[in-house]
Amino acid sequence: MSIKLNDRYQKVLDSIKEACDNAGRNPSEITLVAVSKTKPDEDILKLLKTGHKHIGENRAKALEDRMEAIKDETVQWHFIGNLQTNKIKYMAHRVDWIQSVHKKKALKEIEKRAKAEDRVINALIQVNISGEGQKSGCEPDQLEPMLKYAQNLKYTRVRGLMGMATFTDDPEDVRPEFRLLKKLRDEHLHLNGGAVELEHLSMGMTNDLDVAIEEGATMVRIGTAIFGERNY
Ligand SMILES: *Cc1c(COP(=O)(O)O)cnc(C)c1O
Repeated sequence: MSIKLNDRYQKVLDSIKEACDNAGRNPSEITLVAVSKTKPDEDILKLLKTGHKHIGENRAKALEDRMEAIKDETVQWHFIGNLQTNKIKYMAHRVDWIQSVHKKKALKEIEKRAKAEDRVINALIQVNISGEGQKSGCEPDQLEPMLKYAQNLKYTRVRGLMGMATFTDDPEDVRPEFRLLKKLRDEHLHLNGGAVELEHLSMGMTNDLDVAIEEGATMVRIGTAIFGERNY
């Protein structure tokens, strides 16, 4: 690997800027979450030296270990993986964003654990936009009851929606999925109030970053393009 992490990171920032230019958007609207899964802590430390703040992990144990190893209090930690309710207690003391909330029970547990820590945790509701049978978020018709429930929370703030697109070689294939997530956000804006403010759309990964930004992403979750290929 001859390309340095800093160069790859800069390239990703350039891609975001270019995609924003093409879409008539401002790069300041986009939060880049660097997804560090399986990569060494040193890579994250290098990235933090650039001033980068948002780091994501998809496994609860990995996130817990990272938050323990990297003491920088300015880091915003994101949990982006399949969320098991019984793992929330291991992250509640430090996690800033839980992006993959897919049921009311998880919201309830986040609220309980955040209250115990006397801190506020940001949440995104993950919606199944790929239509695949596999569990990857709530179904669209569950959004309304979840958001209504979330309005009254005190230690949890629902800041938007998250979606995982189908794995595919051609990013054009997933444009309708991103479009669906934005449509669902727009259709539920009337439920903003209390602890709900649907400002964010977390969608777009290394392969479909441009399309996601064209379709309204405000958070992109990028692993490979920043940290290099993973061995799994
Ligand atoms: C791994 C992962 C990403 C980043 O994927 P890349 O293709 O490496 O950019 C984004 N979101 C989730 C939920 C992931 O698990």
